[in-house]
Amino acid sequence: MRFSKLRLTGFKSFVDPTDLIISDGLTGVVGPNGCGKSNLLEALRWVMGENRPTAMRGGGMEDVIFAGAATRPARNFAEVALHIDNAERLAPAGFNDHDALEITRRITRDVGSAYKAGGKEVRARDVQMLFADASTGAHSPALVRQGQIAELINAKPRNRRRILEEAAGISGLYQRRHEAELK
Ligand code: ATP
Ligand code: MG
Repeated sequence: MRFSKLRLTGFKSFVDPTDLIISDGLTGVVGPNGCGKSNLLEALRWVMGENRPTAMRGGGMEDVIFAGAATRPARNFAEVALHIDNAERLAPAGFNDHDALEITRRITRDVGSAYKAGGKEVRARDVQMLFADASTGAHSPALVRQGQIAELINAKPRNRRRILEEAAGISGLYQRRHEAELK
């Protein structure tokens, strides 16, 4: 599975629909302070099911919605669509029927989040599991936030183990075991 495009609409500073094309190889995002580089990475994490406001640098989940600017009114919803190239058919079962897969997440004020995979409504958990099984979830070590290296060095062993489990692609199993134990 390879990410091919990220489309943001009303997400944080990206008020108008904005496409980020993700080509083969390394993608670099450069720009002046405050232009939205970190917001892009947060959009990627958010569409994969991130639900911790702290990871999104906000107080509440609705803080990802464009809050308005001097010349633009606030929006009522934010949407992020992640296009995945699945030509090699490596997506987990249930998501593996097509050469391309589009995952979208939309949050509407006072309504909450809704997810779609391939145009069909799915649960947050389905999307989180899809990416956890593909070792590239919202908590993936492939996404390195500003300041995260220092956090990793100072992390407690238990938290560091979580990061290694995500890298090893077994965090989906860990989550399922946790859920089974709660039942
Ligand atoms: P740096 O180089 O300093 O790390 P950056 O390119 O990573 O900067 P971001 O942190 O991604 O920049 O973007 C910050 C900008 O996004 C700020 O101008 C902030 O006002 C804006 N922003 C964040 N949330 C919202 C929102 N909900 N509505 C409108 N603008 C927002
Ligand atoms: Mg930044």
